[in-house]
Amino acid sequence: MKYQGSCHCGNIKFEAEGEIKDALACNCSICLRKGTLLWFVPATQVTLLTPRENITTYTFNKHIIKHEFCGVCGVQPFGEAVDPAGAPTFAINIRCIENIDPLAVPVHHYDGKSH
Ligand SMILES: [Zn+2]
Repeated sequence: MKYQGSCHCGNIKFEAEGEIKDALACNCSICLRKGTLLWFVPATQVTLLTPRENITTYTFNKHIIKHEFCGVCGVQPFGEAVDPAGAPTFAINIRCIENIDPLAVPVHHYDGKSH
């Protein structure tokens, strides 16, 4: 199925293909502060509907993960990195997906703090 998502102001809009069966809540320093519920999707299944220039990118620590957010409203709809096999992957914040109840999605807790 195809999901639509966006930041709060609409500066960043995207579509993602797949099935949201569960989400990951991570306790690393940044995820904990933001409260994101992440759904991992191969980049090939994600289409940006707004220009890449609309995205502000923050990196820290090893600078491997691109923590992306809207510079206008401050919401983070997704981040980007590569999976263990090296394939580009989006970590989509399901709180930014339309027409679903993100709080009804089963959440797995990931101990990112210790990794
Ligand atoms: Zn925005």
